[in-house]
Order: sequence, then structure tokens, then C-alpha cells
Amino acid sequence: MKGKALLIIILVSLASFATAYTITILRIGHLKTTTITITAGETVQDHYLESAKKLLNEVVDWVEGFRGLKLRKEVEIRVLTKEWVIEHWGKGFINLTEVRLEEVLLKYLLIIPEDFNLTEYKIGVSGYTIAASADHTIYLVREFFDPRDELRAGAILAHELTHILQGEYFQIPGPATMDERNALNALIEGDANLVSSTYLAEHGGESKPLVESRLNTLDALWLFPYIYGESFVRYVYEHRGWDGVNALYRDPPRSTSQILHPEKYLDGWKPISLDPPKTPSSCSLRLRDTLGEFFIRQMIRAHLDPSTANRSAEGWLGDIVQICEKDDIYILQWKIAWESEEDMREFLQAFRRILRDLDAEELGGGLWILGDRRIRIEELSENILLLTISPVSAG
Ligand SMILES: [Zn+2]
Repeated sequence: MKGKALLIIILVSLASFATAYTITILRIGHLKTTTITITAGETVQDHYLESAKKLLNEVVDWVEGFRGLKLRKEVEIRVLTKEWVIEHWGKGFINLTEVRLEEVLLKYLLIIPEDFNLTEYKIGVSGYTIAASADHTIYLVREFFDPRDELRAGAILAHELTHILQGEYFQIPGPATMDERNALNALIEGDANLVSSTYLAEHGGESKPLVESRLNTLDALWLFPYIYGESFVRYVYEHRGWDGVNALYRDPPRSTSQILHPEKYLDGWKPISLDPPKTPSSCSLRLRDTLGEFFIRQMIRAHLDPSTANRSAEGWLGDIVQICEKDDIYILQWKIAWESEEDMREFLQAFRRILRDLDAEELGGGLWILGDRRIRIEELSENILLLTISPVSAG
């Protein structure tokens, strides 16, 4: 890659969900340019490509008019197969070390069961890709993108064209944490989805938004930018127009809290950074991250009702999680700050209820045993707490 991060955006159709809704996955800076040496497209018949190109020209005019930005370079179309996408953008993208640590995180924080294989999950979801874009090329996946279905195909192209415009007009910063990445992707996908759902509406179609309550918590974490991005961007668009949306790229939202509560973002609210907790002696740091309000909400929603989950996660002010490794075991520490003592109590109440529901044993002094893990809850101040989770065998 030459200097700038290459933007790859993938539009997927979740056939496994109730509605055949289209969503996208964003990846920044992961894909090497050499990976896009396409061989799968060569066998595609010409009329498929011809009708896709014809539709593209119509959609370009519409998107430029609606979004108020003109494409600076001509857009190309390449055709891929589902098999190619899984091989190159699914398996080819997986960083096994990263996924292993993410799996530890999700298991320690009770979001996925012990026997869950996160690598398989990640490869599986890559197979839902129906379109992608990078620089000035839109990649269409033959099995999912049907140019004869002009309404749906047009909306997909409108979405991808918005991503190409974003690449031309805006500098998109690289996120440092999970919370930042989700917020940034929500801006990018929300902008593209606002354009595609307006395209649909103006052409006699209807978009079917993804709804958090219909998704399991892991899918909701993965799909956050598509569940809440559009409503965030729409809020800003309605208050400040496209100039306001364009300005978002200069000072992008950095936290899922800002996406979930757009009024907070416009008010200038920002989360706080916390000093990392001290790692246990001779434990090597493997991961450090910020998980954010939406993550906490899913963690609670995995076990309790949605309104308790929403309430318990609200009032989040900042967090820092880290995982260290010592003699092949992992220790997780998670420091969370809340707006008020009441917000912290609300979270703790829900968390303790989950532990009791899971038959964890309460030893007193904030110490619990759940299966073969020990969970320590410490209140560091009236609004900051520290959770430490480690195998009982860690001593
Ligand atoms: Zn997208």
C-alpha cells in the first residue's frame, strides 16, 4: 500500500435474517492492493456487466444530485463470486491472534458460550458479501447482485457510490479502539445508508432497517454501524444539512455513545480516557481496548431484558479493558467510569443479577466464582469500578 490507507467497503445481504436487508462491512487499511487481482470476474458473461454498467450511470447522476458531491473519477465495476470472497476477504483477512483474544474477551464477558468458535463465525459472515468498493472500483458478487432487479441493485450501487465519494472528499482517520471503530463505521455506513434508503424511497421502494432487538447480541455488535449509523447521520442531516454531515468527517464521532445519543454529540459531549489498570506481576499485556456503551448494552442484553440492558449501559463515561497472559492463562481487567454513582450502581445491579442467574457463587468482598473463573468487582471511587476476571487456577 502506498501511504494512504485503502478503503474497502463490503455490502452484504444477510439471508439468515428475517429481511433480505443489505448492509456493509468496512475495513480500513487491511487489504493490500495485490489482493485485488481478480480472476473470478473473467468468466462472467458480458450482458451481466453491461446491465450493471448501464444502471450505474443512472445511479451516479442521482447520487451526485442528492448528496451534492460530484465524482472526480470514473467508477469501474468488477464482478466476483461468493467463493472468491470467502477465500480472500473472509479467510484471507482473519488475523488468528486477534480473533483468539477477541474470543477470550467475549467469553470472559459472558457474551458467547465457552464452546463458541469465533473464527468460524467470522469466515461465515464474509460469505454474505454482495458488493464492495475500493478507490474507484465497485465489486459486485454475482450470486447476490442482480442488475435486473433495478430497484434493489440501484440502492446497492447508491450505497457503494457514497463510499467512493467519501474516499474522494474526506480524510477518514484510523480508529484506535473498538468503540471508536464502531462509531466511525456508523458515520460511514450511516451516510451511505441514508443515501441508499432515500434512493429506494424516491424510486418506489422501501428500506427495511435492521432492528437491534431482532438480532442476537454478537450479530448486533458486528452490525452496529448498520443498526444505528443511519439514524445518527439522519439526525445531523435534519439539523444541519449535508454541510453538517460533511463536517462530521472533520471531527468524527469517537464513541458508540455519541451515535446512540446524537444530541450528545452535537452538544460536544466526549467520553473520558482512563489510566490503564496495573497489570498483575509477570503477566504480559496482549490486548488493550475501549469497549463502549453499546458493548456493555449487548453484554447485559445477552442475559437480561433489553430495557434493563439500555438503562444499565447508559451513563457510561469511558472504559479501558486489557487482557494479559501469564503461563498460558489470560487475565482480563476492565475499568469503567460512569457519569454518576447512580449509573454505576445500575450497571452493578444488572451485572450481579446475571452472575446470580448463572449460579455464580458469591464469596463476599466483591469476589465471585463462576465455573472455573474468579470475578472480582472493585469500586475504585464513587463512579469508577474495576472488574478482574481470571481462571480460578491462576491462584
Ligand atoms: Zn457500506
